[in-house]
Amino acid sequence: MRAHTVILGAGATIAAIPNGDRHGRKSSVMNGLIEKLNIQDVLRGVHLSTTSDNLEDIYSELCSRPEYKEACQELERRLYDYFSSLELPDEPTVYDFLVLSLTDKDAIATFNWDPLLVQAYTRCHYYTSNLPRILCLHGNVDVGFCPKHYEYGKIGTRCFQCNDVLTPTSLLYPVANKDYDNDEFIRRTWNTVEYCIKNSYMLTIFGYSAPTSDAKAVSLLKKAWGDKDSRQFEEVSVIDVIDEDSMLDKWKDFIYSHHYRYTNDFFSSYLGMLPRRSCEATFARLMGGIWLDGDSGFKKGMTWYDIQTLLAELLEEEAETPKGQNYPVHYVPHRK
Ligand SMILES: [Zn+2]
Repeated sequence: MRAHTVILGAGATIAAIPNGDRHGRKSSVMNGLIEKLNIQDVLRGVHLSTTSDNLEDIYSELCSRPEYKEACQELERRLYDYFSSLELPDEPTVYDFLVLSLTDKDAIATFNWDPLLVQAYTRCHYYTSNLPRILCLHGNVDVGFCPKHYEYGKIGTRCFQCNDVLTPTSLLYPVANKDYDNDEFIRRTWNTVEYCIKNSYMLTIFGYSAPTSDAKAVSLLKKAWGDKDSRQFEEVSVIDVIDEDSMLDKWKDFIYSHHYRYTNDFFSSYLGMLPRRSCEATFARLMGGIWLDGDSGFKKGMTWYDIQTLLAELLEEEAETPKGQNYPVHYVPHRK
């Protein structure tokens, strides 16, 4: 079975901590970010021609003006420190459900700098090591990298090969023309995501608004997915809070005909309804006409115990499946 690749934007982190993180700190989309993170003092005495409150507009102008070099570096430091400070609450978040909804053939590629997805990945290891790979498309405050051996992992840990402490990845700050080739970690990450998307049966875009300053990123994703007419048998899924027409307009180059599912929340997406079998079950439904039970997946408000109970049979099936073979569809109605 081919893979499921999930692309995450700022909306996914907001969905993961709708009431703030463990300490009540919030995340935000790029609009109003500086004010919401309470770091506007960095811009005191700075006179910009943009009147926008969008971080990308502010940052782009700031870093293009040599007289504001220090303010620009200070803004980078403050953003880095703010995102580093975020911590998941104890209870399961949408990021935990997301990590546990996929297996090791799949990938989650995130544009977000915050550490929450990596934290979720780390604690979900307690339940299973059959987890998707995590790819940080714009760098991440919680991911380190060994430039000698190209190993990456959680910040503070050591390179598997040379035992050096992994160095922080540089964040790709929001300028109009981002360079995806200059930084070795970012370049390799994009090569991997391209490979993952090319080999995916399903693609889910979660909370990613594809801002105009990310035009290059979107064209790289599009190049990897290829012509939508050659993706007649694949399924695209979008999880977002915008209305469906705007969504279709934004992602029309990715979706073949009516082969998509659009939901406003994670729990009614393929991932939430068919955790760990989204590709197997969807393929069986669309190609084999198999009826599915859409009511046995993750539900909002589930506790860690509920999750463990739900996963038990799925993990058992995975352990019993010979390597290289497909997992059982699992979500067939007679199971109830
Ligand atoms: Zn190394």
